[in-house]
Amino acid sequence: MIDLAAIRENMAHIRSATHPSAKVMAVVKADGYGHGSVEVSRAALAGGADMLAVASVAEGTVLREKGIRAPILVLGAVLAADVAEGVENDIIQTVCTPEMVRLCEEAAAKTEKQTKVHLKIDTGMGRIGVRNREERDAVLQELINSPHVLLDGAFTHLSDADDGEDGMAYTEGQFQKFLELTKDLPQHVIRHCANSAAIHRRPDMALDMVRAGISLYGYPPVETGLELKPCMRWTAKVSYVKELPAGEYISYGRTFRTDRPTRVATVTCGYADGYHRSASGKAEVLIHGRRVPVLGRICMDQMMADVSELDNVQPEDEVVLMGESGNERITAEDLAAWSGTISYEILLSVGSRVERVFTE
Ligand SMILES: *Cc1c(COP(=O)(O)O)cnc(C)c1O
Repeated sequence: MIDLAAIRENMAHIRSATHPSAKVMAVVKADGYGHGSVEVSRAALAGGADMLAVASVAEGTVLREKGIRAPILVLGAVLAADVAEGVENDIIQTVCTPEMVRLCEEAAAKTEKQTKVHLKIDTGMGRIGVRNREERDAVLQELINSPHVLLDGAFTHLSDADDGEDGMAYTEGQFQKFLELTKDLPQHVIRHCANSAAIHRRPDMALDMVRAGISLYGYPPVETGLELKPCMRWTAKVSYVKELPAGEYISYGRTFRTDRPTRVATVTCGYADGYHRSASGKAEVLIHGRRVPVLGRICMDQMMADVSELDNVQPEDEVVLMGESGNERITAEDLAAWSGTISYEILLSVGSRVERVFTE
């Protein structure tokens, strides 16, 4: 279940915490961090987002096909095979070499339209982007010779803004390098560097735009005074209940053996649904508003939970894998801790066979 009102409200909170002169971009790549990019985009725009960001032209095309007209930026670098589709769909692409500018110019000239690009600057992420003034100037020179390509923005990505003191010092260095490499760009160029962590910790780094990803979905990566609410609730069902005596094994590899008579519920979710197998032995689920342990290894399509302490658990009963039930709550961060990853990957892992139900 995806709470679109929460997406809208989270965006409104981020909007109000950001300097009014800065735009806010909603990062909806990877199908809106697993929440559904079309619905999330609409909710984020309703909450005050000015622009959208995706990972690839194909992801942007999905939004255009659903009638979303807001500016869309592809965060990844231009690829020859995709550039024409990007131009056609009025999607802003990211350039970091003269060759990428040439690809955009060729595609745009054919359609006799202008296309917008953002220049990516690598200030210490080590991913994509120009690394110094010389590389930057080569791109700017190519832009001068490209009448169909307009430089609309320039951005960098912070690699350690959610970390401790040392990380913040590194972030400051990245910020200063970015300022240095963008200070002489034309006034209209949108300069942006802040991801969720920087939005909360360093509002002074907003410049002309911030890029809100994980915080939009209610999982700020650092302390924040903003009331951001998780937007995804993930449930399954009990399919079967049995009583086992002491001394019985449960699931593959016999990693769990009952040490007392145990009532076991089988649950309709497994690693094929994106519930990480690596959470075996640690995971818990909520049934009837109570927190109960998952027993033994998580299987492909099913898992078993200990419901000995619960009365009257029946097939069809709801099992909350992530979200609230009664006074209990399981967060993406809990799931991440059990399976040795981060909240981002948990949200994105929820499988395509898990139906997304949207609520306002
Ligand atoms: C994914 C991404 C973001 C969003 O990061 P969050 O930590 O989720 O806010 C921002 N900028 C770029 C370039 C990204 O790739």
